[in-house]
Amino acid sequence: MTTVGAALRDARLRGVQRLDAHLLLAHVLGQSRAWLLAHGDDALSDAQGATFEALVARRAAGEPFAYLVGEREFHGLALAVNEAVLVPRPDTETLVDWALDLLQGELGGIEHPAALDLGTGSGAIALALKNACPRARMWAGERSAGALAVARANAQRLALDVRFAAGDWWDALAGAPDAPVFDLVVSNPPYIAADDPHLAALTHEPLSALVADDDGLADIRRIADGARGRLRTGGWLLFEHGWAQALAVQEILQRSGFGEVRTRVDIEGRPRCTGGRLGA
Ligand code: GLN
Repeated sequence: MTTVGAALRDARLRGVQRLDAHLLLAHVLGQSRAWLLAHGDDALSDAQGATFEALVARRAAGEPFAYLVGEREFHGLALAVNEAVLVPRPDTETLVDWALDLLQGELGGIEHPAALDLGTGSGAIALALKNACPRARMWAGERSAGALAVARANAQRLALDVRFAAGDWWDALAGAPDAPVFDLVVSNPPYIAADDPHLAALTHEPLSALVADDDGLADIRRIADGARGRLRTGGWLLFEHGWAQALAVQEILQRSGFGEVRTRVDIEGRPRCTGGRLGA
């Protein structure tokens, strides 16, 4: 038999941060953090104690918090996540906000702008865009069957109308003869170099969503190179990338025929997104 307070102390001793321990126990008990703080002497049932202990062990082993509770908030949406998808990052809201600025600004005169999220993972970007801009015809491509299942389930649960297409980058559209020529394409592709020491902290997430060849630039290059014909002339392509990759991505876009190339910083002030308009 253990109590709320004792279980929380045990979790701290096992190296789990106080906030994580509180949120995990609140999740197990279906209570708020405030409730926990007022009920330190309450007993946990054996089942509750065992469930909490198993979650603490996984968190102590470095598993992302979002996988343990099966959910992550992104751009105001509660998204289901599991090991098949990258956990949505707050950095990526920068990309969503830029796309929304375009949909409401330069593309604001188009009644139903066609937008595509390549490599959608949990569906985070596509669903956030559709949620904030319902008039967009939103499409999302994904190569991983496991990720696609997560994204489709999120769309269904949130009742957001997004068209999904299975396949690798632009190949996803090969099986969708009714795919439009897009006004806007966004992507948060894998962009970490295979020898990046940062990867040591990311061992629980799918490597295929994180690592790309050519110093992390191979997929960005493929997407930029293949855009013509799928993205209309004058349409925008926006990428998320590593904070040290802005110049390289600007160059890739320019070489692929994009103009008005620019970079936006993320919530921590790091250059995180680069995009441009496809020239004639
Ligand atoms: N931003 C993620 C990280 O560094 C990586 C996401 C990605 O490769 N697309 O943790």
